[in-house]
Amino acid sequence: MGETEFKLEEATTSEVHGDRKGGMYCTVSRIVMSLLTVTVLIAATAVLVYYLPTRPVDQVATKPSIVNYPTAADDITPTGRLTTSAESPGNTTTTDLTTTAQQPQPTGAPVTLAPPDDIMKGRLSKTVLPRRYELTLRPFLYDDDVPDSKLGQRFTFDGWVRIKVECMEATDEITLHSKNITIHGMPTVHSVSTLDNTDIFESYKMIEEYSFLVLKLKEMLRPHEGYDIFIRYSGIMATDILLGFYPSKYITSQNETRYIATTQMEGPYARRVLPCFDEPTFKASYDVQLEHRTDMSALSNGIDIRRIQLDSHWSRTYFKRVPSMPTYLLAFVVHDFSSINVTNAHGCLIRIWCETELTDYASYALNVSESIQTYFDDYLDNEFPLDKQDHIAIQEFFFGAMENWGLITYRDITLLYDEAMYGSGRYVALMITHELAHMWFGNLVTMDWWNDLWLNEGFATYMQHIGIDLVLPELKISEQFYANRVSFALYVDGTGVYPSLREPVYATEGDILGQFNGITYEKGGSILWMLEHFLTLDVFNQGIRNYLKERAYKNANAEHLWEELTYADKDVGKHDVKRIMDTWTLQPGYPLITLTRTGQDIVATQKRFMFNFNANRSTEFDDLGHRWYVPLTYVYKSGPSDQFDKPEQVWMEPADQYSYIKLPDEAASDDWYLANAKMVGFYRVNYEDDNWQRLLDQAAVDPSVFPEETKVGLIDLTHYLSIAEVIPRYIYQNFSTYFGPSSPSTRRAVVATSSYFAKMLLRNDTGRSQPASPVQNYMQQLIEPLYAESGWDDSFTPDIQRQRRNKHQFDVTSAACFHSNIHCVDKASSLVKAYMDEEKPITVSPNLRSVVYCNGIRFGGRPEWNYGWEMMQTTTDRQERARWMSALTCSRDSSLLKSYLQTVLEQGLGLDLHRGEAALILIGVAENPAGYQVAWDFIRSNWEGTYELLKGNREISISDVFGEVTSFFNTQEELQELLDFGSSHRLGVLKYAYQAAIIETEVNIRWMVNSAQQTDQWIASIV
Ligand SMILES: [Zn+2]
Repeated sequence: MGETEFKLEEATTSEVHGDRKGGMYCTVSRIVMSLLTVTVLIAATAVLVYYLPTRPVDQVATKPSIVNYPTAADDITPTGRLTTSAESPGNTTTTDLTTTAQQPQPTGAPVTLAPPDDIMKGRLSKTVLPRRYELTLRPFLYDDDVPDSKLGQRFTFDGWVRIKVECMEATDEITLHSKNITIHGMPTVHSVSTLDNTDIFESYKMIEEYSFLVLKLKEMLRPHEGYDIFIRYSGIMATDILLGFYPSKYITSQNETRYIATTQMEGPYARRVLPCFDEPTFKASYDVQLEHRTDMSALSNGIDIRRIQLDSHWSRTYFKRVPSMPTYLLAFVVHDFSSINVTNAHGCLIRIWCETELTDYASYALNVSESIQTYFDDYLDNEFPLDKQDHIAIQEFFFGAMENWGLITYRDITLLYDEAMYGSGRYVALMITHELAHMWFGNLVTMDWWNDLWLNEGFATYMQHIGIDLVLPELKISEQFYANRVSFALYVDGTGVYPSLREPVYATEGDILGQFNGITYEKGGSILWMLEHFLTLDVFNQGIRNYLKERAYKNANAEHLWEELTYADKDVGKHDVKRIMDTWTLQPGYPLITLTRTGQDIVATQKRFMFNFNANRSTEFDDLGHRWYVPLTYVYKSGPSDQFDKPEQVWMEPADQYSYIKLPDEAASDDWYLANAKMVGFYRVNYEDDNWQRLLDQAAVDPSVFPEETKVGLIDLTHYLSIAEVIPRYIYQNFSTYFGPSSPSTRRAVVATSSYFAKMLLRNDTGRSQPASPVQNYMQQLIEPLYAESGWDDSFTPDIQRQRRNKHQFDVTSAACFHSNIHCVDKASSLVKAYMDEEKPITVSPNLRSVVYCNGIRFGGRPEWNYGWEMMQTTTDRQERARWMSALTCSRDSSLLKSYLQTVLEQGLGLDLHRGEAALILIGVAENPAGYQVAWDFIRSNWEGTYELLKGNREISISDVFGEVTSFFNTQEELQELLDFGSSHRLGVLKYAYQAAIIETEVNIRWMVNSAQQTDQWIASIV
């Protein structure tokens, strides 16, 4: 599913502002960040939840594909894939990870963990499998449609479905999914294998708990025979949640309200649109027809092949059959939009659809999607199989985007872009690339079950970097993989409360939706990044190409991927990929590697990294002993000139108490050495004091010997190690001093890490205190050079392309204003005053308007706030409305913030808030140093109301809001408030966010006791 812009924006905002989850890092300026792409954040918050399922995995690993879609790949036999030889690998490893029969197993653990006994509860049986659906739907969007509606209501739809199934085991029942669907008359069931055309349907019943529709038959179905199930029904178009089949409203420039009908099926929402086998492994082909008003048009996954007029009001559009895919990828849109199109070099028609008035903003998306899709065809050696690929921009949309095969749906701002006026091109490119990666990872090859969702989302996260490198090479996005992805995943996983990547998932909506979390996306992408590096890019690519060919039109789990990668590596590194990767996917957390050098020998040990090593750690489904196969790369001072790109590597094994590195003789006794050379490994490293000092000495004398990733990584690593009290503070302080000035990216890393101190030390100090505190001065000093460079000038640094410049300029200006840079504050304040006085037309670049509005209100008084409130309510420009709406959360007046929240809760959508805007406002207040206490009081005293406000499409963002609030906590009183809250409230989806908040608060308290004063003194000594 589309990673939300939130995730994307967050990942990029970490360049300046650090991790979004920021309890121990910095979310200090998320409030300003959130203004950039306001609507973007709305979605983002929905997905980024640290709610994870509570129980172990579905081990349906080796079940055969149920799909018989004919492909050339079916002829490939994976014979001998795991019988690679036992020769030692080519590099200087101390352990041998080649695939031999007698390799030791990870310490004290079976390789395959058993799922809980009841994990199949609520799952469909495989006695009957769907082969093809023939489906017709007719939505009723307007009042004059209603006379033809069977339910006699607007925002309903009528449908009929014929499901061609194959019996696998004799049974007299067929169970499928159906939710909120009204069946008309009785279903029928006929054999298609015999001439006997008797209807064998007897009765049906619903099992509400599992959304099961059970058809009881008059006779037993015979194995390997085909049957037709036919059902006429009606359904409700959801107006309260953006799921299933729902109407999305938009308003034209003539102030005309219009609707389109659209769908969001992932997670388990197809069952709200048609009776179906609504699990990812039940793939089938689809023949779809949509009936719609003659003045509207229709889109679905396949290309439209025919349209006929049924009567004066209705037409029917037929779509080409879509090959084997799961129900969650189905998509139907009835619309009155326009499109632009191009046919790519491989003959695929690519179209961008949007409101007719917005087509000027569609050409960027068309260019990017054409380039990326064509590139992925070649890169993956696997051509996109459908005739067309539609991308459509929808105003009211649950996630950032959704990768429906052949018809990708987007929140409008994630697809449309205009250099001067609209959206963020960088963000649009990231989103399109992510969704296009799913065409292969998820759509062509689908995970068996939701526990392997990371195969979809981890790959889409990873492939984003491959694609963006093509279309926006100036971003150097691969250089930022650590900062954008790995750092965040290490942070989240370091709290010790989240389960493993492949945690078992029950067949409940909460469990399934809970899979769309930071671990799935970021840790999933990060371990693929590590895997690519230790296998080499060539081997990795060969493996995934084989994987795609082998599993095309079928399902897969991680085991299939391991098998193909092992096979591709059989004559190269000879790694046993499954054995290695099980330790990273079947247990939570990651290792802290401790290295100690004596002479030319370095001893390495591992233990699980925890921010609080004394805390309880998650123990469910993680009995691999908390030890890992670690590809430990290293370089040293006098090593070869290309050593950072081709580092030496040893394997650490779970069973070994110690692992060893032998430095060559030419390494001098006072050479520094460095492990995890370019920070591609998913682990943290600690050294003996002497080596830290040698690294610091090198950084002081000539930091340029370290690549950019390594410098950023060392700043980040030592910050977190000192927060976890693994190393003394001075190491981080010195690295940040030495590396900070060396480049914009290291300076941003220092700003990001320092924001934690600012957050902890300043707390309610919301700026402009006189005299400014040392920390405030320090932050200003750090940001000043970046600010001076970017400033407000619309034409600075012409050597970098506009997109990168815009993003950079926004980040830097936001941070400068947030930390009370006088120039920035005065500029923003005077611009807002000028708006208010209407002295003259104000020209502020759209890129910086959010910063201006937010800080005009932050550093203004009630008149500015009232002006913002008025603007929010009166502007007809959606983007402007969203900017003002967020800007209002920037106020330093807690009474204003309190009444703002109260209004949101009491009036909710009565304020005509766009769905999700309430969550955005709550998060904005939560991120505000002057507001987190207001938000906390609000949540505690209105828990049920808050839950209600955010439930449905916003349910998950409760965790997000909660995380923002508690990231400020650093006192025993606040810890006690947290504990009291947990004991007296139903936490539901908040479970993991709550546990993480307790850990973070404990760590923050410890930092305040052990480090706050000294950090303050250090800062005072250098400003
Ligand atoms: Zn995705």
